[in-house]
Amino acid sequence: MSTLLESYAAGRWFRAADEGDPLLDAATGEEVARISSRGLDLGAMVRHAKETGGPALRALTFHQRASLLKAVAKHLGASRDEFGALSTRTGATVRDTAVDVDGGIGTLFSFASKGVRELPNDTIVLDGGLERLGKEGTFVGQHIYTSRPGVAVQINAFNFPVWGMLEKLAPALLAGLPTIVKPGSQTAYLTELVVRRIIESGILPEGALQLICGSAGSLLDELTVQDSVAFTGSAHTAGILRRHPNVIDGGVRLGVEADSLNCSILGPDVRVDDPEFDLFVKGVIAEMTVKAGQKCTAIRRVIVPSSIAGAVVDALAAKLARITVGDPRNPDVRMGALASLGQRDEVRKAIEALRASSEVVVGDLDGGALLDGDSERGAFLTPLVLRATPGAVEPHNVEPFGPVSTVLTYDGLDEAVALAARGKGSLVASVATHDPDVARTVVLGLAPWHGRVLLLDRDDAKESTGHGSPLPMLVHGGPGRAGGGEELGGIRAVLHHLQRTAIQASPDLMTAVTGQWTTGAARLEEAVHPFRKSLAELRVGDTIRSATRTVSLADIEHFAEFTGDTFYAHTDPEAAARNPLFGGIVAHGYLVVSLAAGLFVDPAPGPVLANYGVDELRFLTPVKAGDTIGVTLTVKQIKPRNSADYGEVRWDALVTNQDGSPVATYDVLTLVAKTLPAA
Ligand code: NDP
Repeated sequence: MSTLLESYAAGRWFRAADEGDPLLDAATGEEVARISSRGLDLGAMVRHAKETGGPALRALTFHQRASLLKAVAKHLGASRDEFGALSTRTGATVRDTAVDVDGGIGTLFSFASKGVRELPNDTIVLDGGLERLGKEGTFVGQHIYTSRPGVAVQINAFNFPVWGMLEKLAPALLAGLPTIVKPGSQTAYLTELVVRRIIESGILPEGALQLICGSAGSLLDELTVQDSVAFTGSAHTAGILRRHPNVIDGGVRLGVEADSLNCSILGPDVRVDDPEFDLFVKGVIAEMTVKAGQKCTAIRRVIVPSSIAGAVVDALAAKLARITVGDPRNPDVRMGALASLGQRDEVRKAIEALRASSEVVVGDLDGGALLDGDSERGAFLTPLVLRATPGAVEPHNVEPFGPVSTVLTYDGLDEAVALAARGKGSLVASVATHDPDVARTVVLGLAPWHGRVLLLDRDDAKESTGHGSPLPMLVHGGPGRAGGGEELGGIRAVLHHLQRTAIQASPDLMTAVTGQWTTGAARLEEAVHPFRKSLAELRVGDTIRSATRTVSLADIEHFAEFTGDTFYAHTDPEAAARNPLFGGIVAHGYLVVSLAAGLFVDPAPGPVLANYGVDELRFLTPVKAGDTIGVTLTVKQIKPRNSADYGEVRWDALVTNQDGSPVATYDVLTLVAKTLPAA
């Protein structure tokens, strides 16, 4: 008998006492492993996550968590071949494995990098800017995100045993949430191997990652108000989870990604010999055959102008004739097996349902020829294209989770959009068009019904990642039938896990909470210029009030001549006088900013290494010849970089005139050494 898969629970590997259910190789029918979670203490797992994993993760900053993700990604990369070999047993070809295994590891890298670039080296995130709530500026509001002291449970489908886990794990860990993974049983042996390699590495704090191999049992009974469940799978199971009392009344947050009848539309502008025609057909073929069509994003509905439908079907037939099906161990096989014989039965049932209103136009209902493999023991199914009769209902309701697509025809773009919408909400739609008007009209029509829309044309085809690839930086999820959940989308996925709270306070207390100097808070003025302080010595609130300088007409003329910016408002007194905003010659905004730098800078070599930009620059009051300006520069935010011996310092710059009116406001961005350079 083969190995019984173990769960990783409360700090140890757990093996059920029973024999478990067999999991079979998708192509050969041989037993790969057995699975059971009987006797697993789910309550202890949830407690372990909250009492051990959560506190350890939340003690780390976003940057530190991001570096854990990077280390895990690197570690898994070293075992890539081992994962690839086991992935074959799920029916996956080399290309399928790249999507699942490499795609999963790539997602970890992507979140690791985004975590460092887009999140603070802190444990809270500010959302939006400061809101002034009172006239005097003593009462302000700020939204912040903080980590929840809960557990993130993920319940995954069988089709992506690696990517499915890692795409949910990366944002949860970044958000400081320990995770319990429950993979689809059918392919759980691959998830178990990946989790085993992660746990062995010791990279993640104990309790950050646990695994359930087998039934999730009563796991939802153990969850409470700070916990969340991210589910991918059938609408049926999603319905069971949605009706769980802890979801309905207990405050457990449930995200669902379920059945999705995605479509691809051929634009009305496309002719048979246009590049977009070929791109469209290739896209459909890829989605039918990668993972043998077992992708939540695969194209189930092929929506084409009725005038060109025959040509589309012929082109699909010609390309599918070259798709060899069989055991994925054979390198000449282009499409492997479905995950199980049970899944093949499900797809065959769906095909039968579709045939109520569609006829098979490409492929063999009795099963086509295999290049290699046993069609009785292996879950093989050759690709099938159906063509729907006008008004067909089934293609919009039945999801054949395999290499099956249905061609539907339209006359006019409105009908194409209406057909797409009949899927009642999908993860993704793609449109092959090179016409800008078609692009805008169709995107506006499709967007409310889809989480992602791909416009495919000759210009983006080479770099396009294709219809079916969810990308870490773009939203994955869709409304309605697709479940209404949203995953990925870059840092949005991290924010989903965090709690947003509106904080109301005085500027000083707000500064203490956010770690970022807030307008109106105390400024710390000392004899030593802040440019002489290292990153370690600088404090939020450190301030320099500059000397003042009177701007002369000669300054303005010199700047105009020197830079070539001879815009009339700076050079032509009569024309400037007619300007309704200025009523005369004014200084260039950039002159004001340049003079301000001259006023606040401390020029000698020191810890300030570079000025790498300004943010939110606004010119508020015109400066005229004879006006006198001064600058107040205050340390607003200090961000040490983990990977460098310097950090970023953001300074609040306020330029005022002789009346105290603000002339310009902006943030100056500098890099400052962590320690003072040797004298
Ligand atoms: P299921 O909904 O049956 O299973 C998904 C996950 O939920 C699995 O981990 C499963 O565990 C678990 N599960 C099942 N019942 C419960 C429960 N009562 N409480 C908690 N967890 C539960 O989907 P499958 O993965 O088996 O796929 C079935 C069909 O779903 C496919 O044929 C396809 O049509 C559709 N599907 C759609 C996807 C999409 O995003 N569009 C993605 C994947 C599937 P276990 O495996 O142990 O039963």
